[in-house]
Amino acid sequence: MQGTQAKRTEANPVVLVTGASRGIGRATALAMAEQGYAVAVNYLSNGLAAQSVVSAIEARGGEARALQADVGDEASVKAMFRELDAHFDGPLMALVNNAGILLPQMKLVDMDAARVNHLLTQNVTSCFLCCREAIKRMGPDGHDMGGAIVNVSSAASRIGAPHEYIDYAATKGAVDTLTLGLSKEVAEHGIRVNAVRPGFIDTDIHAAGGEPGRIARLAPSIPLKRGGTPEEVANAIVWLLSDEASYVTGTFIDVAGGR
Ligand code: NAP
Repeated sequence: MQGTQAKRTEANPVVLVTGASRGIGRATALAMAEQGYAVAVNYLSNGLAAQSVVSAIEARGGEARALQADVGDEASVKAMFRELDAHFDGPLMALVNNAGILLPQMKLVDMDAARVNHLLTQNVTSCFLCCREAIKRMGPDGHDMGGAIVNVSSAASRIGAPHEYIDYAATKGAVDTLTLGLSKEVAEHGIRVNAVRPGFIDTDIHAAGGEPGRIARLAPSIPLKRGGTPEEVANAIVWLLSDEASYVTGTFIDVAGGR
C-alpha cells in the first residue's frame, strides 16, 4: 500500500478505479480490494456489471461502492468525488484513470473534428479532471498524506496505430505527457504519478473498434505470440500503486507482450 500508514485511521484507504465495470478496470478493482483498499467502482452506463464487481469484492470481505459518472463531463466528475467523500470513511490514497474508449477503425483522411474531439474529451480531459479532484484530496489542501495515481495509456502511444485509429493513439500520447508533467508537479506533496501502456488485451474494447477478433489477427506479430489478460495489466497497476514502487514516479510500464 501507499506510504504514510502511521497517519492512517482504522478505515481502509480508498482507491477510485474509473471504468471498473468491465475489462482492465474490473480486474484492477478486484486486485486492489485484495490489497485491502476500499474500492470506488466507477462506470458509465453498465450498472449491472459495476454492481457485480461490488458484489464480488463484498463476497470476499472487502468494501466497495459503484459510482456512476461520465468521466469526460466535469459536473459528473465533481458529483462522483462528492459521493466518494460522503460514502467512504477512509482517505483517498489511489486513483486509476482507466476509463477510455475506441471508435471504429478508419484512416485519418476520413476523420472529422467531432470524432477527434469526442476521443480527446473521453480519453484525455477525463484524466485531467479526475487527477485534479484526487490531488485536491491527497495534497496539502486535503488529507496531506500523499497518494498514487496510475493512468492507463496504451502501446498505441508508441506505435501510432496507423490505418486503425491514429486519433486514439494520439489521446494516449497526451496521457503519457500528462503523466510526465503531473508527476513532477505533485512529487513534493508525496503524490506519485505513473502509467501503464497495455497492448492487445482481451476485452470488449476491440469490438467497439469494429474488430472483435483483432487480437487473434495480430497475435503472430506479438513477440509473446498471444494477447494479454486484464489481470496481467492489473498486476502492473497494483505494483505501481504499492509501497514496493515508493521511489517510482513519472514512468511507464509497457504490458504489451513485447510490442
Ligand atoms: P472496456 O472493456 O471497453 O471497458 C471500458 C470501461 O470504461 C467500462 O467499464 C466502461 O463503463 C467505462 N467507460 C467508458 N467510457 C466511460 C466514461 N465516459 N465514464 C466512465 N466510464 C467509462 O475497455 P478496456 O479494454 O478494459 O480498456 C480500459 C483502458 O485500457 C482504456 O483506457 C483503454 O484505452 C486502455 N487500453 C486497452 C487495451 C486493450 O487491448 N484492451 C490496450 C491499450 C490500452 P460501462 O461498462 O458502463 O460502459
